[in-house]
Amino acid sequence: MMGRTHTAIGTVAALGATQLAHGTVEQEAVMVVAAFLTSGGVLSPDCDVWLPVEHRGPTHWLLTCLVVGASVAVIVYQLAPTYALAAGCGVALAWVVHAFADATTVGGVPLLGPFLTDRRGNQRKVRLLPKMLRFRVGHMQPVWCALILAALLIGASVFYIGQA
Ligand SMILES: [Zn+2]
Repeated sequence: MMGRTHTAIGTVAALGATQLAHGTVEQEAVMVVAAFLTSGGVLSPDCDVWLPVEHRGPTHWLLTCLVVGASVAVIVYQLAPTYALAAGCGVALAWVVHAFADATTVGGVPLLGPFLTDRRGNQRKVRLLPKMLRFRVGHMQPVWCALILAALLIGASVFYIGQA
């Protein structure tokens, strides 16, 4: 899956999460910006292409996603405690959504690494969709899915605001 697709999906997920989080407007903005910056590109799980590890390996473990989010929260807490949880949750959400999105592709990812391995000790790849529905890298279907999801979230938000 391509970086801009991950950015679209991660940002939409963060926008949705702000509807559940009930933080201040500033905290919600921090969460969305954190997710936008870390769901695709050099700050995402795909930073592994610059590291001496397997692509779509340890950086795509759910455990790593949570550790990275927690680490960001600890670092931000030193600078701006009010925004630490929002930043950490935004990054963790972006990384988890990134890993789940990659798990919808033909190649899959070792989401449950390092715990789920085969007899030889290789990490087992998790694929979340049936074979015929799995995405191929570079295809546009995930972008359309993200846009439709965004439209639904915006519609739900407008409805929610109208009720309040
Ligand atoms: Zn990836």
